[in-house]
Amino acid sequence: MSERLATVDNDFLMQENFSLKQQLKTKEQLLQQKSEELQSYLYTVAHELKTPIISMRGYTMLLQEFYLANLDGEIRNYLERIVTNLDQMDDLIINLIDYTRIDVNADECEQVNTIDLLHEALEELEFLMHQKDYEIKISPDLPTVFSKRNLMLRVFTNLLNNAIKYSKDSEHPVIEVGYAPGEIFHKLYVKDNGVGIAHSDLDKIFQIFGRLKNKKNTKGCGLGLVITKRIIEKHGGEIWVESSRGKGSTFFFTLPRRT
Ligand code: ADP
Repeated sequence: MSERLATVDNDFLMQENFSLKQQLKTKEQLLQQKSEELQSYLYTVAHELKTPIISMRGYTMLLQEFYLANLDGEIRNYLERIVTNLDQMDDLIINLIDYTRIDVNADECEQVNTIDLLHEALEELEFLMHQKDYEIKISPDLPTVFSKRNLMLRVFTNLLNNAIKYSKDSEHPVIEVGYAPGEIFHKLYVKDNGVGIAHSDLDKIFQIFGRLKNKKNTKGCGLGLVITKRIIEKHGGEIWVESSRGKGSTFFFTLPRRT
């Protein structure tokens, strides 16, 4: 009798388990669908905003071209501010569109030499390093990672761009790119000795438009790390930061090893 009860209990538990798994799967699919809808909405909005911006830029240029000589200093100043704000909006929209388009399929990936990527990224960012003598340290054992090349270049460009921007006021800015091999994941890091991030702000910076208040006079639109995180996660990795105010920051990221 008790043996039969145990079998019935077991059957019941298995059915419960199965039904819970089904419910979880349906919820996951629903979430995925909602997230895709949101991406597509974001893409459409960002795309639609491009047209009025082009038009505003056109009218501003006309004003500057034909009326600049007759305009007083204050109006010229206003026009310059409009152009600066238009540039910021442009930057924002381009980054939003890029964010919605990030996707990684294995057949688009290849073995990418990260030392080459790093040099390419540094070349792109050279213009930011003219005013200060930056010391760049690169670990000689940086790995080859199985990834989508253009997206991985973006990861390095974004992290180095921030390291350069946020250490520009250090007496002797040092940026280090390093590597810690692992059995399942490669672990890389980008470290700087810049302004650092307060402990209470660490969770904000990977959120959309997560610019911190004290960074107002540094150029940026608050999407760089969101884009970087999405690229890393689409490759099956993770990203996090260790930092404290005034003590520099180290951004770590992992990528699965694939041969
Ligand atoms: P932004 O365009 O503002 O640089 P990001 O998404 O790249 O946008 O970064 C979000 C915020 O995280 C920045 O505004 C800055 O406050 C902080 N941050 C990012 N990288 C660093 C760093 N290396 N050192 C200090 N703060 C950083």
